[in-house]
Amino acid sequence: MDTNVFCCTRVVRAVPIALAAVICIPIVWIAMETVDGQGAMPRFASSTNSIELIGCVGGQDAHTAAISGADSSHIEGVGRIIILPGLNPAVDQALREDCNELRKVFQVNAPMFFMEEESGYNAVATPESLEGFVGDGTVLFGRRMMELQYINGTPDGIPTILAHEFAHILQYKARFPRLATAKWQELHADYMAGWFTGHRSRYKPHIPMNSLIAVFNVGDYAFNHPNHHGTPQERAAAFERGFWLNINGNVSSSAIAFQEGLNFIRGMGAPL
Ligand SMILES: [Zn+2]
Repeated sequence: MDTNVFCCTRVVRAVPIALAAVICIPIVWIAMETVDGQGAMPRFASSTNSIELIGCVGGQDAHTAAISGADSSHIEGVGRIIILPGLNPAVDQALREDCNELRKVFQVNAPMFFMEEESGYNAVATPESLEGFVGDGTVLFGRRMMELQYINGTPDGIPTILAHEFAHILQYKARFPRLATAKWQELHADYMAGWFTGHRSRYKPHIPMNSLIAVFNVGDYAFNHPNHHGTPQERAAAFERGFWLNINGNVSSSAIAFQEGLNFIRGMGAPL
């Protein structure tokens, strides 16, 4: 049932965060599973030694990253693709449903896998495909990142972060212009994540403030860094604008949302 999706939501609202974390973390730990693909460890093509990559929250310095020569499941500086047994069917099912919905509404084809971050908290998207998968790219969601959402009491931030990553896949597919800094691409993905959150809240129990906080928390103040992703305020504003485009504007087309997102960042100063 939908009410069991992200099972800790109600707990977090009812008890102190610290207690909620104690309750929730073990649940998350045993629940993580690849959304697509079982069995053999997925890898990027062995002939590939570098990939275009958007490191979304962990502060990667570049738009490219290297795949370790001997282990193509390991992206240097980012993390290793992992497969964990799924022991919590409700969370696993929720993730599958969210990924399937994102593929449908964004009209992209990309598997999502978990990864073990090398450091910090991260989720990334790359246009590269894994061996055995033909599509528009790959989404990797960090184990720590997922765990952090429960620690922060923002489990509904998980589908929003997923939406941000799938928005990057859509950007790759739609040939989003390559700009000097990552900020505009990130704010546009936040806008699309807000739009999807509005869409999701129409058919599932969802606390939008969870999502807003999750987005706000990954902002940064490294204004002069090429990998500056936008301040917390800018990222929250992009999310909100996308959210209300769906809820108040009743815009159900992701193509229109994509264009409105471009208009939004242009209005913020993006050199488009
Ligand atoms: Zn991003």
